[in-house]
Amino acid sequence: MSLSETDLSHLRRCVELAREGLEDGDEPFGSLLVDAKGKVRFEDRNRVKDGDETRHPEFEIARWSASHLTAEERAAATVYTSGEHCPMCSAAHAWMGLGRIVYAVSSGQLTEWRAGWGAAGSPVVALPISAVAPDVPVDGPAPELEQEMQELHHARVRRDLGQAGE
Ligand SMILES: [Zn+2]
Repeated sequence: MSLSETDLSHLRRCVELAREGLEDGDEPFGSLLVDAKGKVRFEDRNRVKDGDETRHPEFEIARWSASHLTAEERAAATVYTSGEHCPMCSAAHAWMGLGRIVYAVSSGQLTEWRAGWGAAGSPVVALPISAVAPDVPVDGPAPELEQEMQELHHARVRRDLGQAGE
């Protein structure tokens, strides 16, 4: 399945959430869950700045879905995210039986960008969702949002490296 206008509009909201995270001192990642009727049921953004490095929005979505959706609703839901799920979040998504994932930027793209900027490596291998959760339908990336996400991630890396903003 390719990306529809509806997909892009949900992804744009994820980018807004990512920007909100960055501006609040967190990392630029945002995600939301849309049910089978197209209604946004839950949204969140990265919240790791206080020390809990597992507070990824995709992980929060998986945990939220455990107590708020039935198994049928989870399978019919779509999770939109500014950045492809990390292995932890891919696993949580699959364990909860959630449905399709749509991302704006792939883990491979982000890894390549970060390496080019001289950012620190990740403690977790940037496996694609399909390597962790092969039965989950996945769509992305969205070239329309690439530049904006690249700017947000670059700003984060400059902050981490203590470089002045441009
Ligand atoms: Zn994650």
